Amino acid sequence: MTKGNGEDPKTGSRMERIQQGVRKRTLLAKKKVQSITKEDVKSYLLRNAFVLFTVVAVILGVILGFSLRSYKMSYREVKYFSFPGELLMRMLQMLVLPLIVSSLVTGIAALDSKASGKMGVRAVVYYMSTTIIAVLIGIIIVVIIHPGKGTKENMHREGKIVQVTAADAFLDLIRYAPLGILFLIAGKIVEMEDMGVIGGQLAMYTVTVIIGLLIHAVIVLPLLYFLITRKNPWVFIGGLIQALVTALGTSSSSATLPVTFKCLEEINGVDKRVTRFVLPVGATINMDGTALYEALAAIFIAQVNNFDLNFGQIITISITATAASIGAAGIPQAGLVTMVIVLTSVGLPTDDITLIIAVDWFLDRLRTTTNVLGDSIGAGIVEHLSRHELKNRDAEMGNSVIEENEMKKPYQLISQENESEKPLDSETKM
Ligand code: ASP
Repeated sequence: MTKGNGEDPKTGSRMERIQQGVRKRTLLAKKKVQSITKEDVKSYLLRNAFVLFTVVAVILGVILGFSLRSYKMSYREVKYFSFPGELLMRMLQMLVLPLIVSSLVTGIAALDSKASGKMGVRAVVYYMSTTIIAVLIGIIIVVIIHPGKGTKENMHREGKIVQVTAADAFLDLIRYAPLGILFLIAGKIVEMEDMGVIGGQLAMYTVTVIIGLLIHAVIVLPLLYFLITRKNPWVFIGGLIQALVTALGTSSSSATLPVTFKCLEEINGVDKRVTRFVLPVGATINMDGTALYEALAAIFIAQVNNFDLNFGQIITISITATAASIGAAGIPQAGLVTMVIVLTSVGLPTDDITLIIAVDWFLDRLRTTTNVLGDSIGAGIVEHLSRHELKNRDAEMGNSVIEENEMKKPYQLISQENESEKPLDSETKM
């Protein structure tokens, strides 16, 4: 039977029911969204408490550091003040060597030689290309901005050596405990030389390094990640905040390594076979921030010396800056030491490194953060490029489990056969 309007009453009521269902679900979903907002915020805060705490520690460290500067603490007092920060540094450093060795061993053991070879090539190609891009950015930015205008005569030089006392030896005894990035940063700010010395050229140099690092970290690396993986780089970088803040606090990519592992594996879900194979090598040889900084700083020193660099010398700087970044250890201000290679390669005075020491503690933090970001994005990219090998390996591992089961089968079959024989026997008996 149909209704007057030609509609089948059964179909009509079914339609109504469907529509009602849709309305109910929409209402429920809306309610859910409303109730989730509060809970979401709570659980989000709880889940990210550690990251938030680290970020707050950095901010408090900066505030505390600047407010304590007016007290004019002695060098020794500053050392005592930053002691909790030093503890954290030591604790992280303590983990590095065992972590590098064990993760490389487990990383390589989890892959077959073909897969590890391919993954290794991919990682090296990534390291080399990003380092060269970083060096080029450094060179272009410093040539365009030209922070080294004028002479170096009115620039401040810095460098000091301090004696070790018995108190240091005592503090050595209790260096195993975890305490904060807050004190690392606050201590460094209290210790910092008078801001007055960071005059025109040095301030311009600092700004130039920051711009170069930002271009590399905020534009080049995320773009590369997006182009290769077609995934949102900011979600990936969001998962790395804790590692990036630790790099900022410690100025050491090696000391940050345990946190980088945690962020990549636990938050970003990068395959452990990739992180364990790629990260330890990356933290040691892949330093985009350092490479950019070395090239930029060398050209800055040439500029303040009114030393005109020809094209050949710029190429030499690019090559030596790349080599110096590979050679630099992942420890605070290692880049400043390997700068000597870059300067001597083009005949620039190595003494002039003292011109940039005043701001290096700060720039070191930024380049270390860029280094850690480069390593992490590298792990994400290598994982994406190696997905087929990883899957094949998974399948092989699966097969070997099946094979193992197959090995057990004959026994099962025998016992099954025995089982099946029983009824037959009984049948024949019958
Ligand atoms: N501190 C940097 C790092 O650990 C190295 C450097 O001095 O550039 O990655």
